Amino acid sequence: MKAFKLITLSLVITLSGVVQAQQVKPQGQPDYPLDSSSTLVSRVQPATTTVLQMFRDAGMSPIEHRLTEDEQKKIAAAFSALPPLHQRILKGRLRSINFLDNMPNTALTSTVNPSGTHKLFDITFRAEILNQDVSEWLTWKELTCFDTTGSTLRVSIQAGHLSAFQYVLLHEATHVVDGTLDITPDYALATGQPLPGSLATDFIANVWTQHTVVASAYKSTLLDGIVFRKGGKPLPISQASQIYQALKQTPFVSLYGRSSWHEDLAEYVTVYHFTQTLGQPFTITEGQPTGILLQPHAVGLSQKAI
Ligand SMILES: [Zn+2]
Repeated sequence: MKAFKLITLSLVITLSGVVQAQQVKPQGQPDYPLDSSSTLVSRVQPATTTVLQMFRDAGMSPIEHRLTEDEQKKIAAAFSALPPLHQRILKGRLRSINFLDNMPNTALTSTVNPSGTHKLFDITFRAEILNQDVSEWLTWKELTCFDTTGSTLRVSIQAGHLSAFQYVLLHEATHVVDGTLDITPDYALATGQPLPGSLATDFIANVWTQHTVVASAYKSTLLDGIVFRKGGKPLPISQASQIYQALKQTPFVSLYGRSSWHEDLAEYVTVYHFTQTLGQPFTITEGQPTGILLQPHAVGLSQKAI
């Protein structure tokens, strides 16, 4: 699309495998037409050259994935299992979704027209997650937080056997909902503070003071040292129970949810929908299934109101 111009000034690549694009708004960009009556499945398209270039600039070499019939069915099922609000907003805001191979990170949500009055979004996924189950993918992601050298101890997440794509789609779609409704504020990239005029919503009140700065009640040097935080690194697996013990004292449903207010919302909504609506488990364990470290739907979900 010739007129399409996506401006991305910085790419934040977390070790979790999730890439998040942050846009600085250029002036005077036109809005883009979108047929909001078209089905969400029909929006599966090849990634734009701009998106591909963004990955190449970050040192990656992704290639277009050719979807099988089975994968197309999984995509359709995942769209129909989204909450009604997500489906409604995606209908009016999702321009395309794309699938790439050889993409080390999991997903990228990018704004097509950041300065438009009606923002549209593209979401790009690593195609491999279509064929992983959610527990397998979440466990892989969680283990990036730990150095397991010399230990047989492992952390795992039991979240049922829906596809990992279902989880990641809901997570990314929540960024689209958030970007549309401003449930968490926009923020100034340099300082992490909300942009002037942003809403200080109930969701972040008393929990976040800046984009990546938690309120003093939830400060933790240990949790600030994990790989999902800027400057963090994999911590010895022997510290796992201590880490989840610290997380239990907070309203965050996952370690990743404590990385920024955007991720807090996306993780919260995703875990909530999986456990409360789709009836899936969400339990983080150590070693044996009996070694429960965290069950956010049992202890944490009630601490927040959306
Ligand atoms: Zn995210």
